[in-house]
Amino acid sequence: MEFFTLNNGIKMPMAGIGVYTFTPDEAEAAVENALRDGVRLIDTANAYQNERATGRAIRKSGVKREDIFLVTKLWPSVYEDENAVDDTLRRLGTDYVDLLFLHQPTDNWQAGYRNIEKAVKAGKVRSIGISNFDVFPGLTESAVDFAEIKPQTVQVEAHPYYPQTELKKLLKKYGIGLMAWYPLGHGDKALIEEPVFRELAAKYGKSSAQIILRWHVESGNVVIPGSRNPRHIRDNFDIFDFALTDEEMEKIASLDKSLRYYNGTPEQIAGFKAWAPDFDAQK
Ligand code: NAD
Repeated sequence: MEFFTLNNGIKMPMAGIGVYTFTPDEAEAAVENALRDGVRLIDTANAYQNERATGRAIRKSGVKREDIFLVTKLWPSVYEDENAVDDTLRRLGTDYVDLLFLHQPTDNWQAGYRNIEKAVKAGKVRSIGISNFDVFPGLTESAVDFAEIKPQTVQVEAHPYYPQTELKKLLKKYGIGLMAWYPLGHGDKALIEEPVFRELAAKYGKSSAQIILRWHVESGNVVIPGSRNPRHIRDNFDIFDFALTDEEMEKIASLDKSLRYYNGTPEQIAGFKAWAPDFDAQK
């Protein structure tokens, strides 16, 4: 396992699992499998409506809470709610999270940020993240300026077709980490079946997906691939026993197409505030 050291000294595992689109039962099974296989970073969110199931899986796994890097995200509908962090912790069944993101940059994000800062001071949150702020030019910088406690991590779409080259220059300046969502292009076959990945997979005795994940880690990106398949969950974590050469990294860099799979418009993002997760119905 490799780690990324956050700008507050906390160490974050470079690979984990994400449970976006998973039903509570799917999330519970996937997280439990992942923890049994040695995965120690779990990424969920208020909006995924599987935080209770994620918490159950952690307890069932028998892995100690302090050995897990637990990540979740506040949804815009609760940014202004002073109980938002406590309610999130209650659903997860834990008294702290390792990293808490603002999920979307809606116009009330400052209230959410102050809420998280308060939770950091109270020992309920160990580090702060902002997600999808890259959609608006200049907003990541604004968040850094606004912050009393600077963000430790951004979570943004990133993969070989959209490597976030410009954003990474900015993050380097502030010592902020990048956690890549859609690290496998949301499973896009065109990406996974690129000949360069097939060639390298044959060379290293790995799968194309493992080559992509290894490229991320060597580029400094933390990965949270989603999978319900126990073999893929295991494979996605089995990426720390080989290294790509500089030449291979460059070859992969040439795949950059400036292609985002998800293109949320400013209007869509503004609209996220109007939707609220159904916390009461959550299993
Ligand atoms: P992904 O890029 O991780 O791709 C998942 C797809 O790849 C699935 O179809 C899966 O079956 C397939 N796959 C997984 N492992 C594989 C393997 N070893 N071989 C072949 N195929 C494999 O996309 P995702 O799961 O949608 O995203 C990952 C995580 O990112 C989410 O679970 C979530 O935690 C996070 N995310 C965050 C945001 C945000 O707004 N912050 C948005 C989207 C996703």
